[in-house]
Amino acid sequence: MTPEVPVPEPVLRILATLEDAGHETWCVGGAIRDALVGDPQQDVDLATSAPPEVVQRLFRRTIPVGIEHGTVGVLDEHGGLHEVTTFRADVQTDGRHAEVVFGVSLDEDLARRDFTVNAMAWHPIRREWRDPFGGRDDLTRGVVRAVGDAAQRFREDRLRILRALRFAARFGWQIDPDTWAAVVAQGRETGHLSAERVREEWWKGMTAARDPRALMSLWESSGVAEVWLPAGPADQPASTGIVPDSHDPLLLLSYWRAPVEPHLRRLKCSGVEIARGRGIDRCPVRPSDASPKSVRHWLAVAGPAADDLVTLARWRELHTDGWTTEVAAVRARGEATTRGELAVTGDDLIAEGIAERGRHLGVLLERLLDAVLNDPSCNTRERLLRLAREP
Ligand code: ATP
Ligand code: MG
Repeated sequence: MTPEVPVPEPVLRILATLEDAGHETWCVGGAIRDALVGDPQQDVDLATSAPPEVVQRLFRRTIPVGIEHGTVGVLDEHGGLHEVTTFRADVQTDGRHAEVVFGVSLDEDLARRDFTVNAMAWHPIRREWRDPFGGRDDLTRGVVRAVGDAAQRFREDRLRILRALRFAARFGWQIDPDTWAAVVAQGRETGHLSAERVREEWWKGMTAARDPRALMSLWESSGVAEVWLPAGPADQPASTGIVPDSHDPLLLLSYWRAPVEPHLRRLKCSGVEIARGRGIDRCPVRPSDASPKSVRHWLAVAGPAADDLVTLARWRELHTDGWTTEVAAVRARGEATTRGELAVTGDDLIAEGIAERGRHLGVLLERLLDAVLNDPSCNTRERLLRLAREP
């Protein structure tokens, strides 16, 4: 039985336009794989014998999204962007960048793709498959297998190592033994990749992984983690421990690699992400006890990191005395745990002639917050002004 891949109407029309102009055109890439595993997530990419400038001429609205690699974005009437890439072959690769040539056949185009399950093509008009490397078999068996000689393919582009791990974890598949041997032999060579690409793979991979632990274990056993996420003395192997109930890549990294900030910096994460990681690192992992007072003081220190820390504490089983329930209760009662929630502001204290702008004002507000954390009933304008006037 030959399965069929549903192809969206606008993509079909683009394909038909190219075919009518005499250019062989096929549906290719990850969308074909995803359709066959029953998890359609992305638009169907087209591969065509038409050179890029012909694709640009045949359609009214195009965007040269990756023209140097032969990719033209074609806009449909609803403004949807669909990628059309000219059949191409890699001529020269240095493990990071590739130079391509056009004017090759579909089979040559499929041969430069990374894994057999990513190297299938479907022709929706002729209802025809092209699957020169047995991708359908591998997909049915649940195997990630390199197209051709795995070691050679990884030397051409080390990112393929990370992609192999990602696909295996996303679908819960095995990595073919020869491909795995090449992964292990070259795992440390991923150190030559740019941090941005590695970061992207961690983020995509953890978001999509069926069981995030499986992906972390693969990063560890392949040698990739040794280069990009070196473990500290307190870090446990991913295979031990709980199954995290989140796919948040930063939180997962914090769970396996504390403190997380150095890792986020190595991966060249954004300032927002680094700040989030630092917030997690610098706060105690839990309050000293589950009393409302201790929990309020802890929340004041945790600030915006509180929810992340609660999740991490659950994963680390540091929550059994019920303090996380008390966190919710403090919030439900609306008790102040930040300066901004105090019944007086710095401006009030200045207007009342109690303080002047500057460092002293900050110290005073901190003292008021401390009083409110000890006893939430202090949090009225009257009582706080009285407290502020005390020496
Ligand atoms: P996803 O979009 O889920 O990451 P994908 O397989 O669609 O998976 P893309 O990066 O969108 O990945 O690439 C589309 C296709 O291009 C792939 O299916 C594969 O055929 C080919 N490809 C992508 N990256 C590489 C690579 N590094 N080496 C060889 N072929 C690749
Ligand atoms: Mg894709």
